Amino acid sequence: MVCVALSIWIGLYGVVRRESSAVVGSPAVVVYEEHVVVLTSGGNVVRLNHVSKEYRRDEAAVVALWDVTLHVAEGEFCALMGPSGCGKSTLLNIVAGLDHPTSGELFLEERSTSNLSDREWTGLRRSLIGMVFQSFHLLPTLTAEDNVALPLLLQGENGRSVRRRVAESLARVGMEPRARHRPGELSGGEQQRVAIARALVHRPRLLLADEPTGNLDSRSGTDVIALLRSLSKELRQTVLLVTHSQDAARAADHIHMMRDGQLDGASA
Ligand code: ADP
Repeated sequence: MVCVALSIWIGLYGVVRRESSAVVGSPAVVVYEEHVVVLTSGGNVVRLNHVSKEYRRDEAAVVALWDVTLHVAEGEFCALMGPSGCGKSTLLNIVAGLDHPTSGELFLEERSTSNLSDREWTGLRRSLIGMVFQSFHLLPTLTAEDNVALPLLLQGENGRSVRRRVAESLARVGMEPRARHRPGELSGGEQQRVAIARALVHRPRLLLADEPTGNLDSRSGTDVIALLRSLSKELRQTVLLVTHSQDAARAADHIHMMRDGQLDGASA
């Protein structure tokens, strides 16, 4: 469990390579703090242009995505729905750079990602992308605040700025009072809040959430979705949510329905 959660984070964000932060984007403003923060100009954060994805095994081919064109604007809360196997996770993985299109192109902040190396993708995830999963992937032996600090510590950050950002992130999700608690002392909904705080701690401009309410009771699920909506409305955080839940999707600005690897249509 510890190994799985740690390896997921190392796989997504890498370890201690501060000089490699590849900011691909079209920055309108660049602010230097301890980090480079790029403020976008309000365009599309995500743009898939006729993206298809085919998996091949032996002679058989599985078309997971077919000719998907999708725009997600800055600050938008966008939900993807559809039956199991319709390609939702594949789409999210492509946006996160964990998988790559067979054809078509993905733009993040209006820059093509087609020629990025793995190292550049890792840097891009660090600067742009936060991820939340159905399983919370918290390390059971660490407190909530240490779990939230982990992505920063893996990047070689330390000291007061880490503590400040962890406290900010936990406060943002209403979990500051439980900062010293371990996951086993928290409810499922509280653990997911801590996982969201961890996804936010490096101040990503895009939050990808894959079935974040899938392991929660309906009340906790509603709270988590309300939190994602508040991030989008109050902080202009762009959120791309994959969900099976009609209730969760209803909180979004746009719902995109998928079927057989294709987008069926969107509703406001
Ligand atoms: P969803 O998230 O909507 O349940 P997925 O994106 O996981 O759907 O899968 C879409 C289709 O692609 C499914 O038919 C699935 O079996 C197939 N698929 C996903 N990943 C792979 C893979 N690595 N190799 C082969 N087929 C895959």
